[in-house]
Amino acid sequence: MPVGHITNGVHVPSWDSAWADRLWTRAGGKERWRGTLETLSEAIQACPDEELWTCRAAGRQALIQYARERLARQLGQRGTTPEIVAQAAQVLDPNVLTLGFARRFAAYKRPTLLLHDPARLARLLTAPEQPVQLVVAGKPHPADDEGKRLVEAWAAFVRQPAVRYRAVFLEDYDIALAQELVQGVDVWLNTPRRPWEACGTSGMKVLANGGLNCSALDGWWAEAYTPEVGWALGDGQEHFEPDWDAREAEELYRRLEHEIIPEFYTRDAQGIPRAWVARMRASMAQLAPWFSSNRMMREYVEHLYLPAAAAFQRRSAEGAQLAQELQVWLARVASHWSDIRFGNLEVQHEGSRMSFSVQVYLGEVDPQWVQVELYAEPVDDGAPIRQAMDRGGEIPGAINGYVYRATVPASRPPAHFTPRVIPAHPAASVPLEEHHILWYR
Ligand SMILES: *Cc1c(COP(=O)(O)O)cnc(C)c1O
Repeated sequence: MPVGHITNGVHVPSWDSAWADRLWTRAGGKERWRGTLETLSEAIQACPDEELWTCRAAGRQALIQYARERLARQLGQRGTTPEIVAQAAQVLDPNVLTLGFARRFAAYKRPTLLLHDPARLARLLTAPEQPVQLVVAGKPHPADDEGKRLVEAWAAFVRQPAVRYRAVFLEDYDIALAQELVQGVDVWLNTPRRPWEACGTSGMKVLANGGLNCSALDGWWAEAYTPEVGWALGDGQEHFEPDWDAREAEELYRRLEHEIIPEFYTRDAQGIPRAWVARMRASMAQLAPWFSSNRMMREYVEHLYLPAAAAFQRRSAEGAQLAQELQVWLARVASHWSDIRFGNLEVQHEGSRMSFSVQVYLGEVDPQWVQVELYAEPVDDGAPIRQAMDRGGEIPGAINGYVYRATVPASRPPAHFTPRVIPAHPAASVPLEEHHILWYR
């Protein structure tokens, strides 16, 4: 079947912050998100560290302001005491490494992986030197009781006085909240269980804003990840061991403790984390243009829409001559398919090759309407073998019966090969449009 794939992308102007937009505009001009975005990579490569880092700080600061206001409203609506509502104005710190986790709370996304060892997470959040802070948001489906329990786990965690200033859970996750989050976080976490993540588009939304991804190798991140653009979790394989989640949680903590947090806080004399900014630059230059809807749309147009439009034009030209021809072919193949039958099959070894010859009786079917081929299942991850068989002489005494021949390398046993008849027309997509098939038995 002609089924392929095109990787998703995000509409960058909908997700980039005002600061990031200014930076990309300086780099790429007013047409920044049009045309081929690959030229933007070079412009971002040339952007000074100071500018990238200042942009990052502006995004973080704005998110914190937004989170404080939103948290105060949320606490107030719930009837929390005025003292606690007032504390919302002090949560989070604009100079602290900010992690974001926001998504639908579906079990396969493992939204509580980071809560696997709450005490260890609390130590990371409240470390006197090099702390981290966390903004979490998300909703489960109304009928998903397990998802609701996962939200409750986060709600209970952030209520603890010890972590109250470093971890917030924002209710009513929606596109408006997602925009604030992806513009502000330093690191976007995603922890799906392989192979369930279809894409994970939210990780693409942080790219233009200089946010970095730390994600399980599934969905888009399995395609995008290289060591210089972010961090990966897991080994890219599917796992069924009962303790696998615990092992990936352990890996996530270690990644934070030994790589992410130290890299963020290692500053030079100017106060800039050069390694971190280099990673931001690589992520922005290599990933932001590619995982945009600009590239996605271009692929749809080039790989699918234009070929479809050209096929339509070929079929409709000159009074739809080709379309009519195809219609006749379709009708005749369908009505006479049951005429076709196989006769004898012979296999001969010729040195390092095998020669197959098979008798085929076509009845009322024109030999031009079909193809006879020799088929073998793929081995390992290879492609199947499909060797067209050549029509030879007519079988004596038969009407419209022929011997078809093909030779193939003798590297596989003859029993792996089966002759078959399929419909054929140079302008038709088989088996999409005509899917009859007759196997030699
Ligand atoms: C982008 C987005 C999603 C999808 O995010 P995934 O990473 O694919 O789960 C869901 N909800 C909102 C509000 C979003 O903005």
